[in-house]
Amino acid sequence: MNPDELEAFRAEVAQWLAEHCPAILREPRADPGALAAAEQGWHRQRAARGWLAPTWPVEYGGAGLDPEQARVLAQELRRAGARPPPISAGLSLLGPVLLARGNEAQKRRHLPGIARDEMRWCQGYSEPGSGSDLASLSTRAVLDGEYYVVDGQKIWTSHADQADWMFCLVRTDPDAPKHEGISFLLIDMKTAGISVAPIRLISGPSAFCQTFFDGVRVPRENLVGQPGDGWAIARELLQHERRALGSIGRGDLGRARTLPELARQQLGAQDGPIADPVLRDQVAQCELDSLALRLTMARAADEAAAGQGGEHVASMLKLWGSELTNRRHELMMTLLGADGLGWEGPGFDATDLRTTRQWLRAKGNSIEGGTNEIQRNLIAKRFLELPQ
Ligand SMILES: Cc1cc2nc3c(=O)[nH]c(=O)nc-3n(C[C@H](O)[C@H](O)[C@H](O)COP(=O)(O)OP(=O)(O)OC[C@H]3O[C@@H](n4cnc5c(N)ncnc54)[C@H](O)[C@@H]3O)c2cc1C
Repeated sequence: MNPDELEAFRAEVAQWLAEHCPAILREPRADPGALAAAEQGWHRQRAARGWLAPTWPVEYGGAGLDPEQARVLAQELRRAGARPPPISAGLSLLGPVLLARGNEAQKRRHLPGIARDEMRWCQGYSEPGSGSDLASLSTRAVLDGEYYVVDGQKIWTSHADQADWMFCLVRTDPDAPKHEGISFLLIDMKTAGISVAPIRLISGPSAFCQTFFDGVRVPRENLVGQPGDGWAIARELLQHERRALGSIGRGDLGRARTLPELARQQLGAQDGPIADPVLRDQVAQCELDSLALRLTMARAADEAAAGQGGEHVASMLKLWGSELTNRRHELMMTLLGADGLGWEGPGFDATDLRTTRQWLRAKGNSIEGGTNEIQRNLIAKRFLELPQ
C-alpha cells in the first residue's frame, strides 16, 4: 500500500472511530455497569468490521489488513483513547495458532466465532503436578474408534466455568519421551464427563477453575496437527500468550487517564511538576519505561511479521511487561493511599474496588503464561546461551 493510500485508510479509521467509539470508554471514572454495556456494544461493532482480528483473512472473520494498516488502526485506536479489549484466550492465543496449524475444516468451524469473540475459549494446560514442568502432564487421551477418551484434571483454568470450548494438552503416548507424547485437542465444554469447580482467591471470586475429565469422548477430528505435535503447538501458543501479557501494563487507572494526571490529582497540584521529588521521579521513570516497552513491542511485532525474532523475544516482553505492570500498580496504590483500598459492602466505591482488584490481580502476571523465573531461564539458555 503506498503512503497516500495508507493516509486515506488512516482518515477512514479516524472518522469511523469518531462516529462509533462511545465517549464513556474514554472517561476515567465511568460507572462500571454503563461501561461494561458500552464495551460490549463497541466490541460488537469492531467485530463486525473484522477489526478484532484485523490481519486475519476475511473468510475467517478478519479484515485482511496488511501489517502497516494494522499498525495505523492500532495507532488510531490509541489516539481515540479507547480502552483495549481484555486479552481473550480465543483471539489472542488460539486464533493465531489455528491459522498456522489448523486444517481447513477446523479454521472454517472455529475462526469466525473467535474473530467476533463470540465463542469463549479456555486454556487447559496446567495440572496439579505440572506447572513450570508442563511437559510432565498426565491427563490422558486414548483413541477409541473415531473418538479420544480423555481422563484427568486441569487446574488454574481461567474462565472454564463460562467457556464454550477448551484447547487442551493431553498425553496420547505414555511410552514416548515426555515432550513427544503430547497432543493438542479442542474440547467442547458441554461434552458429558466434564465438570468444573471455581476457585476463590484473596481478590474475591476468581476466574480460576479446576476442570475434571471423566471418560470424556472427543471426536478425533478435533485434534490439531498430528498426534505428538502437542508440545510444539503449545510452545507456539505460549509465545502469543507471552507477547499479549507483555502489553498488560496498559491497564486502566480508575480515577485518571494517565499516571501523571493521577499523581497531580492525589498530591494536589493541578499544573506544573509533581511536588514530591521521589514520586515525581518514579512516575517519570514508569512513563518512560512504558513508552519504551510500547515501542519495543511495535518493533517485535514488525519482526514477527517478517518471520524474525525467536521464542526469547516473547519471554523478554512477558518478563519486562509483567514487572512494569506490577511497578505501575504499586505506584498507583502509593499515590492513591487509603483511596486505593476498595471494599465490598455498604458504601463501597466501585472505582476504588476495581482499582484494588486490579492491583491484586496484577500479582498473578508474573506467574501466568509461565513464571518469570522460567522466562529468565529461557532467556539465559536460548538467547544468552549461558552455561547450565
Ligand atoms: C492469573 C493466572 C492465570 C492462569 N491461567 C491459566 C489458564 O487459563 N490455564 C492454565 O493451564 N494455567 C493457567 N495458569 C497457571 C500457570 O500457567 C501456572 O501457575 C504456572 O505455569 C506456574 O506453575 P505452578 O503454579 O505449578 O508453579 P510451580 O511450577 O510449582 O512453581 C513454583 C515456583 O517455583 C519456581 N520454579 C519452578 N521451576 C523452576 C525452575 N526450573 N527454575 C527456577 N524456578 C522454578 C517457579 O518460578 C515458581 O516461583 C494461570 C496462572 C495465573 C497466576
